[in-house]
Amino acid sequence: MPVLRDKYSTGTYRVLINKRSEMLEKLKNEVYKANIDLVKHGLVIFTWGNASGIDRDCGFFVIKPSGVDYDVMKPDDMVVCDLNGNVVEGKMKPSSDMPTHLYLYQYFKEIGGVVHTHSTYATSWAQAGKDIPNIGTTHADYFAKEIPCTRQMNENEVFGKYEEDTGKVIVERFEGLNPVEVPGVLVQNHGPFSWGKNVHDAVHNAVVMEQVAKMAAFSFSINPELKMNPLLIKKHYERKHGKNAYYGQ
Ligand code: 13P
Repeated sequence: MPVLRDKYSTGTYRVLINKRSEMLEKLKNEVYKANIDLVKHGLVIFTWGNASGIDRDCGFFVIKPSGVDYDVMKPDDMVVCDLNGNVVEGKMKPSSDMPTHLYLYQYFKEIGGVVHTHSTYATSWAQAGKDIPNIGTTHADYFAKEIPCTRQMNENEVFGKYEEDTGKVIVERFEGLNPVEVPGVLVQNHGPFSWGKNVHDAVHNAVVMEQVAKMAAFSFSINPELKMNPLLIKKHYERKHGKNAYYGQ
């Protein structure tokens, strides 16, 4: 760690620094595994997509390096950044989407992990510029409402601070929405971002989003006029996430 200076290398400081190094090593392994899990779940090919996880006590987050093939990527290639977007550890450049992840960590205080992919069905809804309506219990088990799609980005946003402003349009779309109850979004003409309490959870939600997007695409092609029973949406979300949740062991 660059912050490890000789005068701090004794006593309490050394214990704290060692503990922080251990936590970051653990987080690097978790973030590496999460990125590889995206491949295993068929959500990413080539270098498409990225996963990150944050340690809010340390004030650092870990993200995959930009443009590195998943089959040669190693845990040590993960890049550690601070909450100003500076790289504090790592030999490689962080994911190009790092500023989007950072923006989400800054505004959605409850989240501990972020995932972005170009998975086929979720990206198709994003390219169509459409929210995914909550039309079935699979969706309602994870998302209390529709999966929202952001507005189109303007010229200043695209040619200015593009990645940071991608985060900005996501946060803007969440006005009146709770990111814990709706753990994902479609960025218009781009693709899905999901999040969760940690990076593993964010991967899980990315997999769910893709399945839900696929089912919704099929359902609307079978019946464009379909309607979901709102009672079932409420029931399924609350039996898993409500204050009297009873799903699971
Ligand atoms: P990175 O390899 O820089 O993370 O980019 C992947 C991607 O999906 C960009 O949207």
